[in-house]
Amino acid sequence: MRKLILLLMFLVSIANTAQTFTEQDSLRGSITPERAWWDLNYYHLDITVNPDEKYISGKNTIRYTVLDENQVLQVDLQPPLKIEKITQDGKKLKFVSKTNAHFVTLKKKQQKGNVNEIVVYYSGHPKEAINAPWDGGFSWKKDENGEHFIATSCQGLGASVWWPNKDHMYDEVDSMRISVTNPKGLSNISNGKLEKIVENAKTVTSHWVVKNPINNYGVNINIGDYVHFSEVYEGENGPLDMDYYVLKDNLEKAKIHFKDAPKMMEAFEHWFGPYPFYEDGFKLVEVPYLGMEHQSSVTYGNKYKKGYLGRDTSGSGWGLKFDFIIIHESGHEWFANNITYKDVADMWVHEGFTAYSENIFVDYFYGKEAAEDYVIGTRKNIQNKTPIIGFYDVNKEGSGDMYTKGANMLHTIRQLVDNDEKWRKILRGLNKEFYHQTVTTKQIEDYVSAQSGRDLSMIFDQYLRDYRLPILEYKITANNLAYRYVSVIDSFKMPIKVVINEKEQWIFPSQEWKTTAAPTNITTVVFDRNFYIHTKQL
Ligand SMILES: [Zn+2]
Repeated sequence: MRKLILLLMFLVSIANTAQTFTEQDSLRGSITPERAWWDLNYYHLDITVNPDEKYISGKNTIRYTVLDENQVLQVDLQPPLKIEKITQDGKKLKFVSKTNAHFVTLKKKQQKGNVNEIVVYYSGHPKEAINAPWDGGFSWKKDENGEHFIATSCQGLGASVWWPNKDHMYDEVDSMRISVTNPKGLSNISNGKLEKIVENAKTVTSHWVVKNPINNYGVNINIGDYVHFSEVYEGENGPLDMDYYVLKDNLEKAKIHFKDAPKMMEAFEHWFGPYPFYEDGFKLVEVPYLGMEHQSSVTYGNKYKKGYLGRDTSGSGWGLKFDFIIIHESGHEWFANNITYKDVADMWVHEGFTAYSENIFVDYFYGKEAAEDYVIGTRKNIQNKTPIIGFYDVNKEGSGDMYTKGANMLHTIRQLVDNDEKWRKILRGLNKEFYHQTVTTKQIEDYVSAQSGRDLSMIFDQYLRDYRLPILEYKITANNLAYRYVSVIDSFKMPIKVVINEKEQWIFPSQEWKTTAAPTNITTVVFDRNFYIHTKQL
C-alpha cells in the first residue's frame, strides 16, 4: 500500500512538472543572446489612438548602451500589430520575424560602451483584452454617458501586446517618455508626471515623463472623460503629489472613497519605507476593469466599494474596512514596482509580499490581532496543489497560492523573527537594499535570512518550492506531549510556539518523534495559530 501511495505521489509530481513549452515561450521568457548584449536606458513611446477604429499607430525610440559587441538585436511586438520599419540614425534596417520576436540586423558597428538608438515604427489593431487585467490587451469600453473609456493592461502577456520593447523583466528602462494623441474631449493619463498637453486640429497630445526605472507591464495608457483632483501628502521624503483621475460622474464619490489612499501611504511608508517614486508622484486612475499596479498610476476599478468588489476575501470582517484595490495595487509600488522580479517564475515576490501588505494595513490601523484574523482568514483560499515558484526562462508563473500562501508564509516568518521592530526593519531594508532593482527569489530569501539572523531556507523551500502544507502530528500521554512533522521536505524543522496548560513555550519538532514534558498532567494544548501548518492529534 505504501509503495502504491509513493507511486501515485510520483505520478502526480510528474503530471505537475510535465509542462510543454514552445520556442516562443523561450524567446519571450529567457535572456536570449540578442537581448543580453545591450542595456536599456530610455524609451520614448509616441502613439496615436483612434478609438472609433480600435486602431493605434506610432513609434518607440529605444536607447541602449552596448555591453558586448553584437550586430543582431531582439525587439518584441505581438501580432496582429505590425512593424512598419526600424531605423538607426535615420537608416532603415533589415529584420527577420519569429511571430512575437523580431531580430534586427544593425548596420552601424556596435562598440562596447556606446549609447545608440533604434526607432521602431508600428501600427495595427492591437489584441483586445478578453478579461482585463488577467487576459489583457486593449480594453475599448464606453462609460455610462457613451464616451470612450479605454485602458491597457498586460502583465504576464507582455507589454509587447501593445508596444514594441525589450519584453523581458530583467532589464528595466531607466526613464521614459510617453506621448499619446487621442480625440479632443478625452484625456489620456499615463505613468509619471504630465509635462504638457498640445492641442492639435482634431486631437490632443499629452506628454508624460517617468523619471524612475519602470517595468514594461507597468506602462499604461488610460483614455476617458476624466476629471482630476489632488492633494499633497507630507511623507518620509517630503511632499508627495497624489493625483486622482476619475470619470466625471464619479467625482463626489471618489473624493470620499479615495481617503483610503493617504491612509495607505501612511501605513506602507511606516512598514516598507519611503514611497519609491517621489519624483513621479502617485496617482489613482479609474479604469473599466478591476485594477492593476501600473507604476505611479495605479489603476482603479473596484466600483467605489469596500473589500474586493464589496466582498471580504478573509471572511474576518476586517477586509471590509478598506478598498482592496486601493490597498493591494498600491502595495505593489514597493513590491513589484520598486523590487521587481527578473523572471515571472518568482512572481510571489510581487504577490506574496503585496497580499501580506493588506494585513500590514490592518495591523497599522486596527492592531495586531485584527491583522492576524485577516491574514489567517485568507488561508481558506489556499489550494496547496502546486508549488508557488513557476518555471524559469519560459515566462511561466507558479501557483495562484503565491498570494495568500505567500502572505501566510511571511506571517509565519514574522513569528520566527519574534521581534516586530526587527521584522519592520527587514521589510524596510528590502526596499532599500533592492531599491529600483530587478531580483531573483534567492536574493530576497538570502536577505531575509541574513537580517533575521537565522537560516530560513527550509521555510522558503517548503512553502515556495514544495506544494504540501506541513502537518504537525501530536499525542498527549499524561504529562507528555509527543510531536513530529509529516508531509514536509527533509530539512524542515520549523520551531513553533505552543501553550501547554496555559504556559507558552517554543517546541522544536522534526520528522522524528520528540517529547516535551509538563510539570503536571496535560489538560490543554494550543498551538499558535499564526504558524501556517496543519495540526493533527493522534
Ligand atoms: Zn497583486
